[in-house]
Amino acid sequence: PRAAGSPRHVTARVAPLGSRLVLALVEDRTRERQVDAVRRDFVANVSHELKTPVGAMRLLAEAVQDAADDPEAVDRFASRMLTESARLSRLVQQIIELSRLQGDEPLDSPVPVSIDDVVASAVDFVDMSAGAKEIQLVAEGEAGLKVLGSEKQVSAAVSNLVANAVAYSEPGSRVVVTRRRVGTTVEISVIDQGIGIPEAEVERIFERFYRVDPARHRSTGGTGLGLSIVKHVAATHGGEVRVWSVEGQGSTFTLILPQHPRHE
Ligand code: ADP
Repeated sequence: PRAAGSPRHVTARVAPLGSRLVLALVEDRTRERQVDAVRRDFVANVSHELKTPVGAMRLLAEAVQDAADDPEAVDRFASRMLTESARLSRLVQQIIELSRLQGDEPLDSPVPVSIDDVVASAVDFVDMSAGAKEIQLVAEGEAGLKVLGSEKQVSAAVSNLVANAVAYSEPGSRVVVTRRRVGTTVEISVIDQGIGIPEAEVERIFERFYRVDPARHRSTGGTGLGLSIVKHVAATHGGEVRVWSVEGQGSTFTLILPQHPRHE
């Protein structure tokens, strides 16, 4: 199936095998071309996204040189350089993670993954930023659940969801991470009482580098890649991710993965 109007890229080679017999080789390269286009797009976006923190760091380094005899200013510029370099290293780390996941291929050697450990490591990961905003972080739900896959990937996905919940919540609010078994699946939900997502934008937030409000995003230090990583992790594990959100009231992101073992 293809979108109306999009061209197919087909090459045909024809070889005569005898007076009446003809061998025709038809090769459809449409999918290959689409993958190439997505890759080119990704590289263009990455270059653009890298330019911002690199440019900021160069300007700040120049500012430090110019302010050599003003220790307070040097201090201020240096701490902004640290912030920018942290952003840059997070961006590079997420780009690497995402490029590994892009094929959405099932994992080579999946292992049983403890959801208790995944939730604990996600809570650990955001503990400091939640503490700094006085956000109450609660982990609850059914213990002992497992999925089959990569602990590193599932932990990265849940950590991204919890980090977003904290980043897009007001100080003093509550973030709940809960898990339960539903049929043959495990559902891990991250529930916040934060700013929510406008209905018209919900479709787009899983796109790479997409942010609802780029101005707001700078203050949260986000990269626009977190949810894209979550979506790909769900795909490589044969699962999906759902979102429910009301602007101004909060959001719930649910990662749904096949349970392991399938039948208890
Ligand atoms: P970012 O690094 O900007 O957080 P993500 O891919 O993780 O990138 O998220 C994409 C966008 O979706 C965010 O910029 C934000 O606008 C929105 N978003 C994600 N999670 C939440 C949430 N829990 N509450 C409100 N908005 C969210």
